[in-house]
Amino acid sequence: MNVLVVNAGSSSLKYQLLDTDAHAILAKGNCERIGMDRGLFGHSEGGEKVVDETIFTDHRCAIRRVLKLVTEAGFSIDAIGHRIVQGGWHFTDSALVDDEVLAKILEVAPLAPLHNYAEASVIEFCREAYPELPNVAVFDTSFHMSMPAVAYTYALPKDVRDTYHVRKYGAHGTSHRYEWMRAKEILGDRCHRLLSCHLGNGSSLCAIEDGVCRDTTMGLTPLDGLMMGTRCGSIDPATVCYLQREGGYTFDEVDEMMNKKSGLLAISGISSDARDIRAGADEGNEDCLLAFDMFAYKAMQQAASMIASMAGVDTITFTAGIGENDWTIRQAFCQCFEWLGVRVDAEANKAAVGAGPQVISAPDSDVTVMVIPTDEEYMIALDVERLAK
Ligand code: ADP
Repeated sequence: MNVLVVNAGSSSLKYQLLDTDAHAILAKGNCERIGMDRGLFGHSEGGEKVVDETIFTDHRCAIRRVLKLVTEAGFSIDAIGHRIVQGGWHFTDSALVDDEVLAKILEVAPLAPLHNYAEASVIEFCREAYPELPNVAVFDTSFHMSMPAVAYTYALPKDVRDTYHVRKYGAHGTSHRYEWMRAKEILGDRCHRLLSCHLGNGSSLCAIEDGVCRDTTMGLTPLDGLMMGTRCGSIDPATVCYLQREGGYTFDEVDEMMNKKSGLLAISGISSDARDIRAGADEGNEDCLLAFDMFAYKAMQQAASMIASMAGVDTITFTAGIGENDWTIRQAFCQCFEWLGVRVDAEANKAAVGAGPQVISAPDSDVTVMVIPTDEEYMIALDVERLAK
């Protein structure tokens, strides 16, 4: 089946055309700077890549261009899969889109306004322009809906929780689900309690017991949990009120500060990109060293709470930009869990960079540690195949 996977962000739209039978990418690309002057369109197929400057007035304009190009290039599309950031309280699984599903995506959009409205507009366009094609919505949150109430409930007044649907929703669910699927395929009966570490620009951990999410570090929004590229992660929530009251910051300024100007960027003082910070740390830059130490410390500490929520761990997987590529972070993280019997094979850990699924734990380790490069697009395509067939 040929599935077009669409991942619409606040100002971008990435796509991949996947042949699920051959597990092959037929074409892929990215529309950037949507809604701004000087947009960029990149498209590649069969090793050929084109990039041109263009203007995308909105997301509908971007998806129109993508669909036109893919069909004119002679590819057939059997179905379209849409990554949706927030499924709210409605979705425990991916869903074949009809009017009701679309209405629910819009109903929960206030929880992720920068994403859900854009994603819904892309679905609307696809349904209008290609009414014969099935559309499937795949939610970043649905995997986490299996969390128990003790994990997802916020200790706030009931009327506030009920009226505003305030609770932990988590994110990166498609990636964590992929990690579970691959770990289980590779390890079989040896894998029951998995700690999945998605460490990228956005980072989260997930405790998965026999395929069920027990807890995760992101919360109502992706701001919670680990320290990230530009997000502060968990801090005392009273900081928000204090900055507004004493610092004179507006709501928007605090929102922007905590999402876009904090994390690795704020502590290193130079960049949100782990590679730049690594270079700075190697030159002895104290702020860069602190940024890495804090990143690893907070990841270790929150990982311990994820492990506690499963009452144990037998498998740890690392994925995303930092998790797949930075062996030093993996080593620092795993050394913190030697008391749990985690033993990493130093050579295997260094060699695992960019080399597909790899076991990096030593033979005498009580916990299997792996690097499993995530593939959210493939996971989405599998859901589309399951629901659209
Ligand atoms: P996003 O959340 O935007 O999808 P990614 O998963 O692409 O993020 O991760 C981006 C992060 O991964 C950046 O901090 C980047 O520096 C880091 N990264 C990417 N490649 C490497 C590498 N070879 N070594 C260390 N860090 C890397």
